[in-house]
Amino acid sequence: MAEQWIYLDGQFVTKENAKVSVFDHGFLYGDGIFEGIRIYNGNIFKCKEHLDRLYDSAKSIMLNIPLTYQEMEEALVETLRRNELRDGYIRLVVSRGPGNLGLDPNRCPKASVVIIVEQLAIYSEEAYKTGLKTVSVSTKRNLPDALNPKIKSLNYLNNILVKIQSNLSGAGEAIMLNAQGYVTEGSGDNIFIIKNGMITTPPCYLGALDGITRQAIIAICSNKGYKIKEEPFTLHDVYVADEVFLTGTAAEVIAVREVDGRIIGEGHAGPVTLKLLEEFRSIVDKDGLKVW
Ligand code: PMP
Repeated sequence: MAEQWIYLDGQFVTKENAKVSVFDHGFLYGDGIFEGIRIYNGNIFKCKEHLDRLYDSAKSIMLNIPLTYQEMEEALVETLRRNELRDGYIRLVVSRGPGNLGLDPNRCPKASVVIIVEQLAIYSEEAYKTGLKTVSVSTKRNLPDALNPKIKSLNYLNNILVKIQSNLSGAGEAIMLNAQGYVTEGSGDNIFIIKNGMITTPPCYLGALDGITRQAIIAICSNKGYKIKEEPFTLHDVYVADEVFLTGTAAEVIAVREVDGRIIGEGHAGPVTLKLLEEFRSIVDKDGLKVW
């Protein structure tokens, strides 16, 4: 296999040499931010939207990214070229950088930037037809006034606890509620339900990441004449939906066939979900930044 080159603070290093300090506050405290981005047929899908979200997350947590927006774009392109990657996944991480053992970010003089690119296949093509088995979990989504889920931070313990719970129940994915009992999102994906032709996704203020795939699906629905709204809903609405699907950079648009033992629709991916997946896949190599 060809050498995998990792971008680490302006240098390209091999996987074996891609090491960061144990004093890095990303490691010590989860203090940092990240993006998961896809490249499809040489096109970085929605590159601008991902970088906008990264720089917004940085601003919100007062993290000074040591690269300008344009330098960051160039670093992404260069990493993909070095690795000769046309199709795959990009993990862009900005940590607070090395400091001391105290949590004060003022003790971290310089943030660290890491870019890893790899091939990716999290679900088989079959899974897009059969759909996922999911459970709702008791762990609540982080409160927006504690750690706003709109910030794509390195602190993913909330999501990891949820994943542990869904693993223990033998389900592949979880559905998270907020403290008021409204549905927010999956462990790492946004959620949509469809009932009588109306597509609904929770507003992000309930406690969800404003997913780039979510935004793309909302735009596709508006352009193609699907009825779509952002409105709070409960687990009951999920149980009785005709179709349920999750969206995310890695997962794309994937159906849910079961929630807490309730079979959704016909028990496999429904027609609207499959159509939206098709529409989504028809734009992924066009809308973004061309590398190759
Ligand atoms: N919610 C969470 C918690 C996530 O981590 C992600 C990204 N994997 C998403 C939603 C989906 O966002 P995007 O479409 O930008 O990947």
